[in-house]
Amino acid sequence: MAIATINPATGETLKTFEPLKDAEIAAKLDLAGQAFDSYRLTSFQQRSHWLEKAAEILEQEKADFAKLMTLEMGKPFKAAIAEVEKCALVCRYYAEHAPGFLADVPVKTDGSQSFVRYQPIGAILAVMPWNFPFWQVFRFAAPALMGGNVGLLKHASNVPQCALAIEDILQRAGFPQGAFQTLLIGAAKVADLMADDRVKAATLTGSEPAGASLAAAAGKQLKKTVLELGGSDPFIVLESADLEAAVSTATTARMLNNGQSCIAAKRFIVADAIANKFEKLLLEKFAALKVGDPMQPDTDLGPLATANILEDLDQQVQKAVKSGGKVLIGGHPLTDRTGNFYPPTIIIDIPTDTPIAQEEFFGPVALLFRIPDIDAAIKLANDTPFGLGASAWTTNDQERDRLIEEIEAGAVFINSMVKSDPRLPFGGTKRSGYGRELSIQGLHEFVNVKTVWIK
Ligand code: NDP
Repeated sequence: MAIATINPATGETLKTFEPLKDAEIAAKLDLAGQAFDSYRLTSFQQRSHWLEKAAEILEQEKADFAKLMTLEMGKPFKAAIAEVEKCALVCRYYAEHAPGFLADVPVKTDGSQSFVRYQPIGAILAVMPWNFPFWQVFRFAAPALMGGNVGLLKHASNVPQCALAIEDILQRAGFPQGAFQTLLIGAAKVADLMADDRVKAATLTGSEPAGASLAAAAGKQLKKTVLELGGSDPFIVLESADLEAAVSTATTARMLNNGQSCIAAKRFIVADAIANKFEKLLLEKFAALKVGDPMQPDTDLGPLATANILEDLDQQVQKAVKSGGKVLIGGHPLTDRTGNFYPPTIIIDIPTDTPIAQEEFFGPVALLFRIPDIDAAIKLANDTPFGLGASAWTTNDQERDRLIEEIEAGAVFINSMVKSDPRLPFGGTKRSGYGRELSIQGLHEFVNVKTVWIK
């Protein structure tokens, strides 16, 4: 894939970039190594100060950064603004809490003293996706930098200007040269990086094949990875649920980021007793969404990020129809305009035993299933290779407890949509990946947990 900015709302190529040559990559890896030697010795106070500064820059220039995101991957401008604000939040969160999370932990043993110490490990490679081009990077960079590691970013090839802007923000914030570098390279170079001694570990957010490929390359070198991959998140609505609230949230949870979020609700699993009403209300909500220019403030749904994503999504929809699914609304790309526009789509009646029923739909397509009771709801929710997040709606305490206990996912949200929050760990189980981002757990992924024992 060429490294380029292509406006997904128009299909126009705005800027192309030459990938780095091998010698340029080598120079950046050398710089990362040198930077780590001194950066690891900086104080928490100093690192916090730089992160606070980054948060200020993000806030002061949020309109510029948001515009860049919308231009490169098509998310509605208002959502892009919120994303920049959230990046400032995660910087401040780690600036404040990382020193405590990384403090020595005394443990009583038979030694005169024993404790756990957290130490940085070196240059960490972040392979990042285009869907949240700022957030995905900052939620890696803030804890990694606070932990004393240095960062190398291989961003998705369709968001190069975002990648360069992030490097620039951290530079301007005061982080030393080489503490965080963007590498404009294609995916084919990632395996070489994993084989390089100067790269100590890696994190990837993206598709299963990309995750498997990175993990294989890292595995050969016995290097640690954190993987945040896809999801086919269930959104369960049981009979006792507040239906209006559930439908409203269902719409937001499915359409977030033009439907291209790993934790978007994708499979709507609704109790028979309320399914007709839910379906009718969801249809009304979807029909009312405004699809169009993502720069306009009243746009709810912009274009998909790339022409390939659009084509893949449409193929999945046609496969769902061939498997017995019925389209209630949408179902084909919008051909009355340029750009990668797909309308809000609802598909019902897909047999649950067809493979397509378990796939991740990365766009504004809701699959609607009906179930007789909570047993069937949990079974269907778990009937997918993925296990990222789950949203479940009920006002019954026993049902709530069962949903929390029995759903196979990295997160369960009751009577709300799944969302990430710097204070809570984020990640998946099953084929959605492993390891955690955010919170104390995210910070501890890329440190050497050193046991110290003194006689
Ligand atoms: P990819 O997984 O291909 O891209 C994500 C990142 O991984 C990019 O930086 C990409 O680089 C890189 N990458 C791709 N292949 C490899 C590889 N073999 N080794 C190392 N790095 C690699 O996602 P796509 O953009 O192709 O989207 C495809 C599907 O992935 C989506 O439909 C969705 O299902 C899922 N996805 C999930 C995301 C999530 O948030 N969990 C985010 C994005 C996608 P490059 O851009 O240069 O190819």
